[in-house]
Amino acid sequence: MKQLPEARLYIDGALRSAEGGRTYDNICPWTAEVAGQAADASATDVEAAIDAARRAFDETDWSRQHNQRHALVKEYMALLRANRDRLMDIARIEAGAAVGAACRAHVDFALNGGDDLVECFNAIEWEEDRGRREDNGVLSDRIVIHEPLGVVGAITPWNVPLYVNIGKVIAAFLAGCTVVLKPAPDTPLMGSVMGELAIEAGFPPGVFNVVTSSDPAMAGEMLVGDPRVDVISFTGSTAVGKRIMEHGAATLKRIFLELGGKSAKIILDDAPDFSVKCMMSMAIFHAGQGCALPTRLLVPRSRYQEAVEALQMSYGGFASRWGDYDDPENIMGPVISQRQLERVMGYIELGQQEGARLIAGGKTCPEKGSGYFIEPTCFVDVTNDMRIAQEEIFGPVLVVIPFDDDEDAIRIANDSNYGLGGGVISGDRERALHVARNIRAGAISVNDGMSITGDLPFGGFKGSGMGREWGREGIEEFLDLKAIAIGVS
Ligand code: NAD
Repeated sequence: MKQLPEARLYIDGALRSAEGGRTYDNICPWTAEVAGQAADASATDVEAAIDAARRAFDETDWSRQHNQRHALVKEYMALLRANRDRLMDIARIEAGAAVGAACRAHVDFALNGGDDLVECFNAIEWEEDRGRREDNGVLSDRIVIHEPLGVVGAITPWNVPLYVNIGKVIAAFLAGCTVVLKPAPDTPLMGSVMGELAIEAGFPPGVFNVVTSSDPAMAGEMLVGDPRVDVISFTGSTAVGKRIMEHGAATLKRIFLELGGKSAKIILDDAPDFSVKCMMSMAIFHAGQGCALPTRLLVPRSRYQEAVEALQMSYGGFASRWGDYDDPENIMGPVISQRQLERVMGYIELGQQEGARLIAGGKTCPEKGSGYFIEPTCFVDVTNDMRIAQEEIFGPVLVVIPFDDDEDAIRIANDSNYGLGGGVISGDRERALHVARNIRAGAISVNDGMSITGDLPFGGFKGSGMGREWGREGIEEFLDLKAIAIGVS
């Protein structure tokens, strides 16, 4: 396994070590060994990053030069793309992505999404003429202006770090904001390399800052509590999202939350190629560490046995097709850390205690290597009130739940604190659309359509968060509105 370079801090235009040269180990999930070092930011480092972002917003014309900024961000995206191989290595070694997952969600989706955002910028209406009108005898010409919100604290998770980092920072830049990015402790280099490439692209000092830290909470809490930060854009767990809302209330900042999910994929009884559609779904993609992955599979009771047999067959056939670091077709590697492995194994034990039937997997897999490997796991005979059906496991664990009819499927899909993604498969487009329209979630795929792309808004209902990322809407989340009325005499 290659060693990774040190993930350094990027503050006020310079890449540098943390105060006192402090570092921490960057662990590779494939081997559980140290793959590199990361700068371990102190509170003084975070303070410097916030200060730089504030100054760049208040004292430069970054927020006003829309076209220059757009051109720079476009160049920056091209530079990121030119470094695709390096980004692939980081996704594989640091985030534990298998090649097939690295080149999809981790890197290519991220780069394509960033380009989509650059394109969506053209749809932003910076100034809208609302016309002349008389009110209380006063005649006014009115305009409505979009203005950037200010300094953004972007707090991101480890599961698809480039994708989430780009969704936030590119949209924030395009809106005219300045940014302090705080990557997850497990994936520091993906943030740091974005800082390094920002220098190469010629970003003005302070516009972008990256602080890596071994402490999961310290830097994030500082961003949330600091009145100089206007916006927190957070992706992560629902528990931390709630904490951020509470803590952020003290400074009344804008808070966007992209949180967890427990998305349902519904296979209706008229689905073409029914057995094929029931087979192992994307629930195992990147070892199930994706917020919108379909981790609850809802199948019709009338064809339940057929569905279970198809799943047994597909999980059986998959046993040798995951966990290989070099296989270009492989989409599943280890989970991120020992902590995550223990968490997922705890849920697998819980599922058995709750009475669900394990038809595949269920064990760790040391024969795949010294890292954090868990077998692709499938529980059937699950009822939606079980904790394994309600709670986000964030591992390669699928739960299969039978339903009686379309309305029952909708009821089960919606019987969740989450509402992030979902899917419906049917031979009848209108029938599938009826189900899709009634699921309370932010992104629904019908007949395997791609509902998550860089030009569409993405985000959650209910406990899955608030606000939208990606698309024109994702840029607008970083803009405020100002109404101006000019008196006409
Ligand atoms: P996490 O909530 O533990 O951490 C997310 C980020 O918040 C990390 O950078 C962490 O260091 C930071 N953090 C932790 N405590 C904090 C605090 N008190 N204040 C401020 N920041 C704090 O989540 P994770 O384990 O890194 O990621 C997995 C979670 O992310 C899953 O729940 C998953 O569903 C979610 N996720 C959601 C989306 C989405 O778009 N909805 C995308 C990817 C991941």
